[in-house]
Amino acid sequence: MGLNFGHSPEIQSLQQKVRQFIDDVVIPREKEAAADLGRLEAISGELQEKAKEEGLFLPQMPREAGGLGLSFEDLAPILEEAGRSLLGPRALNAAAPDEGNMHLLYHLATPEQKKRYLEPLLEGRIRSAFAMTEPMGAGADPDLLQTVARRKGKAFVLSGRKWFITGAEGAAFFIVLARAEEGPTLFLVDGRNPGLQLLRTVPSMDRWSPGGHGEILLEDCEVGEEAVLGKVGEGFAYAQLRLDPARLTHCMRWLGAGVRAMELAQAYATERMAFGQMLQDHQAIQFMVADSHMELHAARLMVWHAAWKYAKGERIRHETSMTKVFVSEAVGRVMDRAVQITGALGISEDIPLSIFYREVRPFRIYDGPSEVHRASVGKRALYRRLRP
Ligand SMILES: Cc1cc2nc3c(=O)[nH]c(=O)nc-3n(C[C@H](O)[C@H](O)[C@H](O)COP(=O)(O)OP(=O)(O)OC[C@H]3O[C@@H](n4cnc5c(N)ncnc54)[C@H](O)[C@@H]3O)c2cc1C
Repeated sequence: MGLNFGHSPEIQSLQQKVRQFIDDVVIPREKEAAADLGRLEAISGELQEKAKEEGLFLPQMPREAGGLGLSFEDLAPILEEAGRSLLGPRALNAAAPDEGNMHLLYHLATPEQKKRYLEPLLEGRIRSAFAMTEPMGAGADPDLLQTVARRKGKAFVLSGRKWFITGAEGAAFFIVLARAEEGPTLFLVDGRNPGLQLLRTVPSMDRWSPGGHGEILLEDCEVGEEAVLGKVGEGFAYAQLRLDPARLTHCMRWLGAGVRAMELAQAYATERMAFGQMLQDHQAIQFMVADSHMELHAARLMVWHAAWKYAKGERIRHETSMTKVFVSEAVGRVMDRAVQITGALGISEDIPLSIFYREVRPFRIYDGPSEVHRASVGKRALYRRLRP
């Protein structure tokens, strides 16, 4: 069988439907959200109802979990379309961190844990958070994990401090990584547990995540043994189970934002005059558009290839590292060019380019900074004598 870069007619038609939904239903709500980010959650809730009516909800989940039952490779163009608006992924209930948490719960949770945490999450009734990073502990290097889980009879008592926990404010539950005697372990901690305190929402350059990025204190945070997600001591392996596909779904969504940025920049270039000709007729502008198209095209092929391998059940650690570095950096460059092409309009919030620019920057840091992924790719290539 030869190479096949296309998707089936059914997936193409679903992609078209998502594009139309984003254009007609989601994008018209962007200005309202930008004017009052406190309304993000309410707007997302209304959009979710519309996505349910249109049959576009939960594209990433299997049918038995109420999703569209797409393979990972078929998910790529769908999340790319959703990513054209920052409100899109949440409208489809396919946004981080819930999307990665759903994946983890679907594969690891007990029937009771699924009923309590996964079901309401799938329905969009609650939000969740994933708490791994610590101010001076686990970060780029997760081995520095400082949060501990001490046994107290059959229960565990968690102590530590986490920060940059997306969606913390208002999260119904947290998946917390803590070090038990047997090793790093994942715990499901109720947001109302008196031992879990939201110290603050960290002011940050990106602002479009409902619940912000929280700093939380775990102090005498007692949970029963039924709070362990998966097996005690397997936390790092499970975090990886979450991260490999989650890095790719991030790439899919951010690719869509890059596409939209170029759509906006190109539209401006066809309407704006400078020095006796339209912007689109200046070669400097053509070069910026060309470079962006080339990078988005390469990014899309990398995402599709890694997704295709993942769908076949193959290991994709190497591919996700390469793809995550390339896509996060390429989309950043695309945003920068789009702002440059649109001049002052790009800096304004009349169009969402300056917002995209701010929101995409952290992607080079979370889910593994570029330097860490580069180091892994380089080591693998050199020590395992990989052919390029
Ligand atoms: C917007 C955003 C959302 C986030 N959401 C979450 C969340 O929901 N849950 C959660 O647990 N965490 C979250 N994080 C935290 C994120 O996972 C960490 O920021 C990331 O793992 C890096 O850790 P750190 O910030 O402590 O950086 P550090 O570990 O302090 O690293 C700082 C810098 O050092 C450099 N560096 C590190 N290691 C190497 C190396 N081996 N070689 C060369 N250079 C290196 C890199 O440039 C890196 O950026 C989020 C972060 C951001 C910015």
